[in-house]
Parts: sequence; structure tokens; C-alpha cells
Amino acid sequence: MPLLNTHLVSVAQLRRTDLDRIFAVADRCLPIARGEETSDLLRGRLLANLFFEPSTRTRLSFGAAFMRLGGAVETTVGMQFSSMAKGETLEDTIRVIDGYADIMVLRHPDEGSAARAAAVSQHPIINGGDGPGEHPTQALLDLYAIAKERGSVDGVKVALIGDLKHGRTVHSLSRLLACFEGVELILTSPPSLAMPDKVLADLDAAGLRYRLVPTLADALAAADVAYVTRIQAERFDDPVAAARLISGFVVNLELLESIGRTDITILHPLPRYNDLSTDVDHLPGAAYFRQSHLGVPVRMAIFCEILGKELA
Ligand code: ASP
Repeated sequence: MPLLNTHLVSVAQLRRTDLDRIFAVADRCLPIARGEETSDLLRGRLLANLFFEPSTRTRLSFGAAFMRLGGAVETTVGMQFSSMAKGETLEDTIRVIDGYADIMVLRHPDEGSAARAAAVSQHPIINGGDGPGEHPTQALLDLYAIAKERGSVDGVKVALIGDLKHGRTVHSLSRLLACFEGVELILTSPPSLAMPDKVLADLDAAGLRYRLVPTLADALAAADVAYVTRIQAERFDDPVAAARLISGFVVNLELLESIGRTDITILHPLPRYNDLSTDVDHLPGAAYFRQSHLGVPVRMAIFCEILGKELA
């Protein structure tokens, strides 16, 4: 188990063999995630869910995953209710919780925060989103969703749409897509919100084929999967003005019908805001709620890997 007792901070730690194994374990976890089977694999283990930025899916699906495997979960939400509001450093907070829990999930507004936490923690830290940096477990569930919806990730054409500059999910997902064969990436965003050069450099180094496409219609026309994201308004000084940047990059029924692409698979890490219209929700390829549900079995598999547990 290559991930045994490791911190999961970045997708750079993951190889194709890790992904294949995690997805096989996630398959085994599916009935437990749905409550059709029970498990006490993690009985006596404690997860600390440390969320210093807003979250619904990540926090609750990590919690659900741990509890469905028989473990217990403690949660802290928001800086204002933690000792950080009194000026405590992230490092000191982690050193303290290290003595309470067997494993921690950390979401924090600062890029690099998960690596800082990992540097001082004896117990494994899982990056649940470090500001505009990375979101490795979201990328794993995104890939798992692509595999479930399309049959395979190999050979898929994925359009990444929206705020590619600040969107940590697309930073992690694009890098992990490079582990697969024959994948093509189509990047489309408002000009000021393009994919950062450091991510493009990683894609180049990994030999992933990608192209920048200026219009949403052209990107959708060429893709099997539309991965839509919202403007990360909380990373801007003026969130209201920021939200307007999405104009021209909104996926809706009129656009999909006009280009004859109502068959496309639509994914979104959620929450959506003004970037993905509810008028596409009835399309067979509108997979974002199914995608969000897959967060539970994938996170169960990650716990099994890191804590060295195997389901019968
Ligand atoms: N929920 C995802 C994240 O935490 C996507 C988003 O917030 O837009 O990064």
C-alpha cells in the first residue's frame, strides 16, 4: 500500500497504479457508501475534520465516508470558532489536534497550508483544499465520475471551463488526467482567469495534450466531458464584479442545443452559481449530482489506503 501512513497533499504524489487501486477499492465501497452494507473497519479510529473555509460536500462526504466505515468524526468549522481567532498558528493548532485524532482533513484559505500542516503532524493530513492551490480528493472523485459516466478515462476529451486561475479543482484534475492514455484537454476561460503557467508547465512535462480555446461553444463542440466551474469570487477584492467575469462562459440549454451537443457529459465540482444553468439538469449527461455522491466511496478508499485497512 504505497499511500500507507502518508500525507495526501498534492496529486503529484499519485501514479496511475495508485489511481487504479483507489478506484477498485471505491467500487468495493459503493454499497457501504449507499448504506446497503455496513462496515466496522475503522471502529475505534477518529477523524478530525478541520474546515477553515466554507464547505458542504467535502466536509460531509469525508465525515460520511469515515462513519460509514465505523469510525468517529470530530469537526471544527470556520476560523472564528477556532483558536486561530486568538492568533494561534496553523502549525500549533495541528500539533494539538495531532494528539487527539488518528487522521486529519484540512481545508484552509492559504495555498501551501496542507504542506505546512503535514510538516508538523505525526498523523496523516489530507488536503481538503488549500486556497487556490490543490484539491486532490476532488480530482480523484472527478476521475472516478468520468470513468463511471464514460466507461473509461483513457482517450477522453475534457473541456475545463470557467475560473481556471483560482480553481483548485481544475489544477488537481488537469495534472491527474496526465496519468491516462490519449486524453485531450481543452481549456476555456475568461482571458484574465486562464490556467496558471505553473500548471501548464506540469502538463507539458507530463506530455498531456492540451489546447486553449477562446470560445465556450468551440470548446463544448470538441469535448466529451464539460467540466464547468464557478468564478472563485472569494479570491477577489470585489466578489460582485468578479462574478460578472463568467459572462460568455455560462453553460445552458440554449447554447448546447444551438451547437447540437445536448449529449455531452457535464461535470461540476459544485457549488454552481451563475456558471451552469438549471435548465440542463434534465439532460442524461448532467452528471454533477451523481459525481458529488461518488465523493463518499472515493474518500472511503483513500482512508483505507492511508490507514492500511482492507475490506473483505
Ligand atoms: N467545492 C470546490 C472547492 O472547494 C469547488 C468550488 O468551491 O468552486 O474547490
